[in-house]
Amino acid sequence: MVLKNGEFFAEDFSIVKGDIEFQNGIITNIGKSLEGEQIDCSGCLIAPGFIDLHVHGCGGYDVCDKDSQSVTKMAHWLAQHGIVAFCPATMTMPHSSILNALQKIKKTMDLPQKEGAQILGAYLEGPFISAEKKGMQQEENIKRPNFSLFREYWESSGHSIRIACLAPEEPGAEQFAAFAQNFCSLSIAHSAADYEEAKEAFLWGIHHVTHLFNGMNEFHHRAPGVVGAVWDTPNITAELICDGIHIHPSVLRAAFRLLRKEQSCVISDSMCAAGMPDGTYEFGGQKVIVKEHKAVLSDGTLAGSVTNLLEEVQNLIRFGIPLSRIIRSVTLNPASVLGEDQKRGSIQIGKRADFTILKKAGFSLAYTICNGEIVARSFHI
Ligand SMILES: [Zn+2]
Repeated sequence: MVLKNGEFFAEDFSIVKGDIEFQNGIITNIGKSLEGEQIDCSGCLIAPGFIDLHVHGCGGYDVCDKDSQSVTKMAHWLAQHGIVAFCPATMTMPHSSILNALQKIKKTMDLPQKEGAQILGAYLEGPFISAEKKGMQQEENIKRPNFSLFREYWESSGHSIRIACLAPEEPGAEQFAAFAQNFCSLSIAHSAADYEEAKEAFLWGIHHVTHLFNGMNEFHHRAPGVVGAVWDTPNITAELICDGIHIHPSVLRAAFRLLRKEQSCVISDSMCAAGMPDGTYEFGGQKVIVKEHKAVLSDGTLAGSVTNLLEEVQNLIRFGIPLSRIIRSVTLNPASVLGEDQKRGSIQIGKRADFTILKKAGFSLAYTICNGEIVARSFHI
């Protein structure tokens, strides 16, 4: 199969003209005038497939709900919105609910996946967080960093946890990190850590930060906190929720200037109401009111988002962020957090044939191609 007549993001994320050939799910050639069965990409921009590291739910389904099919249904919904791969995320729920969700994620991963985004493994957001910065996570289910508990989750997940979160200022965090980093990537999340504590945690092997600015101390010029520590540490990656609600567009512009191009990862952190009408939903065991693209608890606390990566890309373009930075932040950077940047995340011979093809007019979706198969297409192509 050959993607013809389009423009694509090269390895340095500059836009170039050319054709892309792939076979058996792998990119086999990039060049001019390639022959073969073709998909006409005239008027389109071909991006590497979008990867969302942090998704709780979407399209009316939630990782933690009782529906055994919910993760499959999420995978289908995400593919319809240009996402080729994702990590389903758990919450700070009762112990048995976390175990059930992890088992469901693994069972769904093991099914033959057609028509949907690929499931890369679980994102363990709770329970090792700080009550002080819990956001909408349930306080009664918060636990101190505990490696034997992590091992229980790890076994339930069939060894599929890819990112585990913790608040590094909590007792036992250093020892937890020393062991757990051998199993998955570790991330600072829902943490009251100050600048020094965050810098120290990065020395323990924590390399990622969950939704920067949200669930942590505010950046202050005399107390820069986790945010300042990320800006000062080039090898740390950080998630940004780019719905324009969780972070003001002005702060997003500042963040994209201060973070190195390798550091920024756009995520949705979406809950089940993404793509659904306004109304009342359940998320993380709590009632959430969704109105005008905002999801909140009854006390006004933000409760996840109702966005998706494609919409965030469109937002960031509108906010004035350079396109190459935006696309890198939804492709290669998230792949590198999982240690998979050698096999996915950019358009390069030998990498997976995962593409999110956008129409240049309006940056709407033309095709989602996952592992060489078209899993979604715009109705107008
Ligand atoms: Zn989350």
